[in-house]
Amino acid sequence: MWSPDRTVREPVTWIRIVVVSPEEVIGLELIVECDCGWSCRGTEDEVVTACTAHGRDVHGMDLTREQVLAVSKPVEADGDGAG
Ligand SMILES: [Zn+2]
Repeated sequence: MWSPDRTVREPVTWIRIVVVSPEEVIGLELIVECDCGWSCRGTEDEVVTACTAHGRDVHGMDLTREQVLAVSKPVEADGDGAG
């Protein structure tokens, strides 16, 4: 439990900032399938861009990045080839 009247003077050494390498982020493909039959597949940025445009143009909805990512699914690699 954190006590507000307790002052930490020593530098905190156990906190480490974890940076996800860009390659891992770019390598991840997502897929979004809309109720109308439209689907989109690509990187996170591509899917978000395409879905927000689709939602606005076709359904008149303004989707946020969070909303798009909430319904997106990671594309699993095809069975052939390991690694
Ligand atoms: Zn749609």
